[in-house]
Amino acid sequence: MSLIVEETSVTPPKIRQTGILIGDEFRPALSGKTFKTVNPATEEVICEVAEGDAADVDLAVHAARAAFETGPWSRMDARDRGRLLSKLADLAEQHQEELAALETLDNGKPINDSRAADLPLAIDCLRYYAGWADKIHGDTIPIRGDYFCYTRREPIGVCGQIIPWNFPLLMVAWKWGPALATGNTIVMKPAEQTPLSCLRLAELALEAGFPPGVINVVPGYGPTAGAALVKHSQVDKIAFTGEGTTAKIIMREAADTLKRLTFELGGKSPNIVFADADLDAAAAGAEFGLFFNQGQCCCAGSRLFVEESVHDKFVERIVQRAQQRVLGNPFDLKTNQGPQIDQAQLDKIMSYIDRGQAQGANCVTGGKRSGQRGFFVEPTVFTNVSDTMDIAREEIFGPVLSVLKFKSPAEVIKRANDTCYGLAAAVWTRDVKKAHQVAASVRAGTVWVNCYDVFDAAAPFGGFKMSGIGRELGAAGLANYTELKTVTMSMG
Ligand code: NDP
Repeated sequence: MSLIVEETSVTPPKIRQTGILIGDEFRPALSGKTFKTVNPATEEVICEVAEGDAADVDLAVHAARAAFETGPWSRMDARDRGRLLSKLADLAEQHQEELAALETLDNGKPINDSRAADLPLAIDCLRYYAGWADKIHGDTIPIRGDYFCYTRREPIGVCGQIIPWNFPLLMVAWKWGPALATGNTIVMKPAEQTPLSCLRLAELALEAGFPPGVINVVPGYGPTAGAALVKHSQVDKIAFTGEGTTAKIIMREAADTLKRLTFELGGKSPNIVFADADLDAAAAGAEFGLFFNQGQCCCAGSRLFVEESVHDKFVERIVQRAQQRVLGNPFDLKTNQGPQIDQAQLDKIMSYIDRGQAQGANCVTGGKRSGQRGFFVEPTVFTNVSDTMDIAREEIFGPVLSVLKFKSPAEVIKRANDTCYGLAAAVWTRDVKKAHQVAASVRAGTVWVNCYDVFDAAAPFGGFKMSGIGRELGAAGLANYTELKTVTMSMG
């Protein structure tokens, strides 16, 4: 008789890398300082990580500059750059289980999500951009006169990349893929809460054979390491994902050196359910669109607009789904909601829940912290939400859904657009014409129709209005990592 043992939980991984990567060496901070990275499910310290600051950033930038100007990378054929990226994707795939577990340990996201979303998407993104490396070319242009005119798309140079904690490894892939495919070099600052998966991938990049200095990683804090990167005169571009207020600081600090800037920021995305939609699918989509990743998604469908005639029955379905969510140990395979990232986020979310109640919204489920250990928040649904309430206007970045009622397409489009954000939106309807009308009218960088959070490395992503500048992913993502050069040659 054979005994089949079903996997019920996953063992946390060993920590291999906690240093600063400069050139081809992981080292301690010049100051000798370290900071703690914490397991958000237990509040226990996982390990100490080297705390880079301006001095370490300076060394990393010089390594990246040297690699860009004179190293083998600067002379490498585009196809070989692609092969290195492909090799990195292969290594990430070989270490997929370890990286997924590392992500869950450091970020708290359920292991099922790390395995099914973060890792496959990150690997796919690296592989997708590997394929682009030898397909980036200019045009020949028929200008007036006896001239031969053509354009070249050249790398920008040293790219500073600053990323958040909500999808640590995926953000690395979104940033490294296009930057490396186009021949740039990188100094990355991962989020202070989640440096571990980035450091492990950097180790795999050295194993893949990236020349020294092409990829440098300086873990540390935003106002020190991040700010030093933004101000550094030898950094040509900053690619940033995070909060709008941080982006404004970066824009000001980058002004002196006129750096190229691309931003992927927050949102308050409208998710619009018409009465003629497949309501079961819409309810599943509304749950996923908001509660996935503990609500810590820049594109979270946090304003759920439901047509009046189906509002009450739709709310019932959503509440039922919220109540069925399984909170707990993220390494447990039954869990589909882990903790928030840290105490600051927990406090921020709880303050929005308090404000929602104080401003007259109706908390129909959830509304409390869950347990006393780990930063867990109950899946929370508010009804009776009006457009002016804080919970309908501001990014909460947690498992808090605001349900708003509407009567007509024109009304809901106007209200959906009444926000400073424009990252994403979704519409649920069986009426094709209505779907296209809403898709065309909503001011957002991505519109999903009868689905939510469908991501692909080939499909551009980014924000209108205060949700960002530039696009990531797809061919559009490459444009932000190249300078266009026009060459005009006399043929006379
Ligand atoms: P931040 O924008 O502060 O952090 C993002 C990254 O920027 C981190 O690496 C951070 O470093 C760094 N940073 C912070 N200050 C500076 C600075 N002055 N110069 C350069 N880099 C800097 O977001 P938080 O992590 O503080 O999260 C706060 C809120 O931001 C969330 O509640 C959420 O609303 C939003 N957010 C949005 C995200 C998105 O994808 N759009 C992702 C994450 C958060 P450090 O790690 O040390 O803070």
